[in-house]
Amino acid sequence: MLKKEFKRKDVQRARNLITGKTGASTGTQIGYNKKTEDYKEGDVWTEGRKTWTIKNGIKQTVSKLDVIKKEVFMPLSCPCCGKIMKKRLDKPNYKIHKKCFDCVIEFEHKLRIRGEYDDYKKKLVAKNSLDIVDEMESYLLDAINTSNSSFVSEDGVIEKWIGGVNKKEWTQKIKEASKTRREHLEKELNDKEGTKRTN
Ligand SMILES: [Zn+2]
Repeated sequence: MLKKEFKRKDVQRARNLITGKTGASTGTQIGYNKKTEDYKEGDVWTEGRKTWTIKNGIKQTVSKLDVIKKEVFMPLSCPCCGKIMKKRLDKPNYKIHKKCFDCVIEFEHKLRIRGEYDDYKKKLVAKNSLDIVDEMESYLLDAINTSNSSFVSEDGVIEKWIGGVNKKEWTQKIKEASKTRREHLEKELNDKEGTKRTN
């Protein structure tokens, strides 16, 4: 069995989470486990050896093929302008905006003219930060709960854990920090929407 250790970079991740530096690169985060209650309709995640999703409010397994399909599926033509999506930048833009690159450019150009672009961009960043908080929380909780009885502290000292007491403490700290960050980011998102309406 592969043993995961709670390393220095995990401590840094926890610190970033607590201090709100969620924009920093978080590296590869594929295959870690997430708590079921954090999932919403349509999400796909790996738990144990199975891939799960929530469909019509029910948690269920999906085959690898379904995941691949979901990942690569993109309609042939843009739902916005109807043009065939074949440009290199169409795919990443479709993933985020559900329209072709040209439509995104046009949409953002209109926002710039209306002076709403900065708000829109900030909102995108905040939404992305929320996703990162979710990912980091899961990653850290997973790292803590699968690691051995010791971890390397910030100053490189190996700390021994006795009877899992520190695991509990860290779990609580991470959950609290995530909650605070999430609330902060959500408030930011809502404030922007409020500002937009009065403009
Ligand atoms: Zn288009």
